[in-house]
Amino acid sequence: MTEQSCIFCAIAAGQQPATVVYRDDRVTAFWDIRPQAKVHVLIIPNQHFSSLDDAINADPALLGHCLQVAARLAREQGIHTTGYRVVTNVGPHSGQSVFHLHFHLLGGNPLRLALG
Ligand code: 5GP
Ligand code: ZN
Repeated sequence: MTEQSCIFCAIAAGQQPATVVYRDDRVTAFWDIRPQAKVHVLIIPNQHFSSLDDAINADPALLGHCLQVAARLAREQGIHTTGYRVVTNVGPHSGQSVFHLHFHLLGGNPLRLALG
């Protein structure tokens, strides 16, 4: 399903430019436009969910696939030994700004602890 005017749906559909590093029939991964670490990739399901909360009834395999793609990309980027963070923001208190479920993969340098 493609939500009209959703920027990440457009990226998943190949209708909006992005530096895509991985794509299959369920998931797309691309560099964040404003990287907050040396490696900052976003992993999204191609299907539109506005957040993890909206995906509560989604196929669990799809959510697992997102995380496995994140882990594979971390290896590809060579940050699996130094470590990395995978995070998803949900709603106003988290600062979520794009309302299509996405997982941030962050690494390549020491990350600040910002847990709350
Ligand atoms: P959020 O704050 O919702 O967790 O994260 C949204 C992320 O999407 C931000 O890190 C922001 O830089 C990134 N972003 C927003 N618009 C675009 C875009 O058009 N292209 C790409 N590649 N990243 C985007
Ligand atoms: Zn979308």
